[in-house]
Amino acid sequence: MNIAELRDRILKQERRALARAITLVESGRADHRAQAAELLEALRSAGKQALRIGLSGTPGVGKSTFIESFGMMLTARGLRVAVLAVDPSSARSGGSILGDKTRMERLSRDPNAFIRPSPSQSHLGGVARRTREAVALCEAAGFDVVLIETVGVGQSETVVAEMSDLFLLLLAPAGGDELQGVKRGIMEMADIILVNKADGDLKPTAMRTCADYAGALRLLRKRPQDPQGFPKAMTVSAVEEHGLQEAWEEMNTLTDWRRENGHWEARRTQQAQFWFHEEVKQGLLARLNQGRVKDALTRLETRVASGEVTPSSAADEVLSILDISAQ
Ligand code: GDP
Repeated sequence: MNIAELRDRILKQERRALARAITLVESGRADHRAQAAELLEALRSAGKQALRIGLSGTPGVGKSTFIESFGMMLTARGLRVAVLAVDPSSARSGGSILGDKTRMERLSRDPNAFIRPSPSQSHLGGVARRTREAVALCEAAGFDVVLIETVGVGQSETVVAEMSDLFLLLLAPAGGDELQGVKRGIMEMADIILVNKADGDLKPTAMRTCADYAGALRLLRKRPQDPQGFPKAMTVSAVEEHGLQEAWEEMNTLTDWRRENGHWEARRTQQAQFWFHEEVKQGLLARLNQGRVKDALTRLETRVASGEVTPSSAADEVLSILDISAQ
């Protein structure tokens, strides 16, 4: 594949070129990795920036319905929208596929939208890198908004929050007791909580749930990256398309404020550093699974188990091999 040509075609906003480039960054083959690195480097200078919006919510809260309605609203305003997904569960369970086009039928037909389902990789580190690189490719291809969807499980929220400018938490109307079900850490990550399904019979419950979360958010420590009134909770109906404009306006208020006050750039800088450290850690972990180091690990594991050697001296021995192989 000719990388210079692929670069030019991505800059010309050709969707097929973008799709092909994402396939390249998803590949685990060494030669593909090298090409992907070359391509990303070549596109870096394009310097285009999208608004990256992370969106999390448990299965069934209405993520795909929301993304479809919200995405259609944005494209109607002339914005180009890309949808990506981080789904650490898809490979293992074969379960819900995020970013699935059949779940967002209207949006997938919209010429101003680009939807990419999550790849079937179970390793979160691999998914994180692939998604970050796909975000960079979408930015280079001139998308105004990149939505990154994830399910509300474990670490995947942190991964998405660390690659987003804004983080949205989508919730369903629920009884007061369920407030505790949302982990504090996730609440702290959220910039805007959207209580979905505020329509029909569910509307009163949605309003109450929203008030509960608004109260809970007020109890959190004030964050320096927030203007007055943020983080905030709002109600929406993805089905009836209510509250979507208001939510978009709030997102703009927040991003404008952050841009004016230096928090936007600071967040991206901090994220770049975070991912640099993550990549180093992942690289080191990968080395533990290779050649002499792996052999030593297996051998020493047995000796630690039988008490012939202490855990710390066994660790020192493994690390000394790593030191040698690094030279
Ligand atoms: P996901 O698993 O989070 O992607 O959720 P879906 O978007 O597939 O929605 C799950 C179910 O909730 C579907 O039956 C939707 O029709 C329904 N749903 C989604 N949004 C709304 C909404 O705004 N109001 C109501 N009443 N139902 C909704």
